[in-house]
Amino acid sequence: MIIVLQKGCKKKNIESVIHKIEKLGFRAHAIIGVERTVIGAVGDDRDKHVLESLASIPCVEKLVPILQPFKLASKEFRREPSSVKVGNAVFGRGHFGVIAGPCSVESEKQIVETAIKVKKAGARMLRGGAFKPRTSPYAFQGLEKEGLKLLASARKESGLPFVTEVINPEDVELVGEYADMLQIGARNVQNFSLLRRAGKFGKPILLKRGMSTTIQEFLMSAEYILSEGCRDVVLCERGIRTFENATRNTLDISAIPVIHERSHLPIIIDPSHATGVRSYVAPLCYAAMACGADGLIIEVHPEPLKALCDGPQSLNIPDFAALMKKLRELSKFTKKKL
Ligand code: PEP
Ligand code: MN
Repeated sequence: MIIVLQKGCKKKNIESVIHKIEKLGFRAHAIIGVERTVIGAVGDDRDKHVLESLASIPCVEKLVPILQPFKLASKEFRREPSSVKVGNAVFGRGHFGVIAGPCSVESEKQIVETAIKVKKAGARMLRGGAFKPRTSPYAFQGLEKEGLKLLASARKESGLPFVTEVINPEDVELVGEYADMLQIGARNVQNFSLLRRAGKFGKPILLKRGMSTTIQEFLMSAEYILSEGCRDVVLCERGIRTFENATRNTLDISAIPVIHERSHLPIIIDPSHATGVRSYVAPLCYAAMACGADGLIIEVHPEPLKALCDGPQSLNIPDFAALMKKLRELSKFTKKKL
């Protein structure tokens, strides 16, 4: 339910409405605007009728039910698009943030060199997996804590903030201690205890769509995070499973306008995992920008042929720099700040 307060409602009245919502057993999420404040009350759907008593509070103008099952992620709760800022990287509201880096952290030289060079080419954030969700238990699983430390040195050397994946709920605090943004990967999109724990932690979250989740399920996963009080969620479309096998996955480009219509959350595209093929990455980046995406996350490796993970889909540094140059030209038309 959305509780719309009257124009000019005082701070102490807002606090008292929040207090009443909480006493009724719901969580209150306020959007305090210049003119008007709205409060989203979310909790057990079966008890929502008790919220009707709030209509009689003098500073409450009206109660509006949120019809979508994803409440805090919905456009009904927040009409304006939201933006997420991590250091100098901004996603949404006219900003196009580019994240670049290797699939996994392999060595200090590899991650520091990549960070410095992708920054020079225009990336605003570094990526790199320390905990890798691999299909095979025998494949490289990541450098784990050592990888987090190397990412922190790359941040220090380059000035770029970094995003890295957390796989287990028990590792949220460890990964969160180092990372500027936590990534929840495609395979964990419905790991509800991970979503809750990461949402509680308080750092921005990059949530990837599962390979077989619908857009509604994807937004419900974002809702788990938002319901824990986290406001900074960036969604990422990274390809879904279809019958097509010429590419690793099939990029669902229509997820961009669909999500922008239903949710205020920014959405970025991962063309690397969507295709699995280096030569398809740049065309999909242009498509994503033209289609209104709020950013990109791209795998870049200084020596893709030697990469321990996802080499075939990784760009080398010169190709990434050329891609960024073209994106800057294209951004003159989309009017999003790169
Ligand atoms: C990744 O970005 O490193 C990754 C494993 O991606 P996804 O979860 O989309 O497969
Ligand atoms: Mn990868």
